[in-house]
Amino acid sequence: MERIEEFLQERESSNLLRVLHPATHRKDGFIYFKDKKYIDFSSNDYLGLSQHPRLKEAAIKAIEELGAGSTASRLLSGDLELHHRLEEKIAEFKGREAALVFNSGYQANIGIISSLCARGDVIFSDRLNHASIIDGIIMSGAKLFRFRHNDLEHLDALLKRERGKFKTSLIITETIFSMDGDRPALAELVGLREKYDCNMMVDEAHATGIFGKNGSGVAEEEGLSDKIDIIMGTFSKALGSFGAYVACSSRMKQYLINKCRSFIYSTALPSSVIAANLESIDIVKDEPQRRKSLLENSSYLRERLKEKGFNVIGSSQIIPLIIGEDNKTIYLSNELKARGFWALPIRPPTIPEGESRLRFSVTYHHTKDILDKFIDGLCKANRI
Ligand SMILES: *Cc1c(COP(=O)(O)O)cnc(C)c1O
Repeated sequence: MERIEEFLQERESSNLLRVLHPATHRKDGFIYFKDKKYIDFSSNDYLGLSQHPRLKEAAIKAIEELGAGSTASRLLSGDLELHHRLEEKIAEFKGREAALVFNSGYQANIGIISSLCARGDVIFSDRLNHASIIDGIIMSGAKLFRFRHNDLEHLDALLKRERGKFKTSLIITETIFSMDGDRPALAELVGLREKYDCNMMVDEAHATGIFGKNGSGVAEEEGLSDKIDIIMGTFSKALGSFGAYVACSSRMKQYLINKCRSFIYSTALPSSVIAANLESIDIVKDEPQRRKSLLENSSYLRERLKEKGFNVIGSSQIIPLIIGEDNKTIYLSNELKARGFWALPIRPPTIPEGESRLRFSVTYHHTKDILDKFIDGLCKANRI
């Protein structure tokens, strides 16, 4: 097809062709490529749980007892008691009546949003919301209004102007933004939800396991869990495993089981993944020092980089260093690589034009010692 060549050539000529980097393995915060080894600043394994012995043992035990595959979708014969045990645990963890497990965060977002909204409805979405949220909105057919990132005055103005024209409405935000590492004023958002009688959904993909007294996320930290209709999050990031969840009311859960196509028409997650997910929630409860040290070290890196004059933003374990220019971003990434640090450039179309950046994900494995070496490496790379 002509369009394939055209597309690829355009990406190649603008230096935006995406490529895969197969690693041989990952361990203790390092990523290995054949004979090369880097300290990994690109992974979402924030709490270092992907290699936690308890997760691995739980997965192996489940495979031995229950097999490798789940054989069918949940509504056919793929449903196990184990799935329900996980859903009960999530509901309790998130302080909600019920929870439903999804095969991935992407599937959760496209399925949930397109189940809740349809043509004739309206959705208000933060401009920086994840691609899976945007795709869910497109699938729903609802009218979309994007408000400027974390700009609640803008949202208020849009709500005032548009809310009355539609029967059903939904406000969607992430609680920790994946590309900017910051968070919305959630209490004020909930206020707007109430003022304009909207439904509300939050995506806690980067907050689950890290924020809140029990580590369940930002909704818990801000005491707003019961004010938000749909709290979605993933097991694939800080929880070190795979899959996603939604915490909601029992009626909402029932509705999604009956309506949500990405839930209904996909094979259930295998027992090994579900068992690892169950274990991950226990570890978050049992080992709060993991998230405490993660957040301390993240502040440490952010503050040191600011002192050195770097343009870093956000307020979480995600530390974006805004560079702006594409070539300089690629150059710095390569220089860091030459010094043993794996931090990939983030460029359009993932983020807006002119905002190219390096995005450093701090994880449990990054001790202050490693962070000091990293800061030193970055300063040297930047001076050349
Ligand atoms: C990663 C991510 C997702 C997708 O989750 P997967 O489980 O990787 O499919 C959804 N929303 C946000 C904000 C994310 O960062």
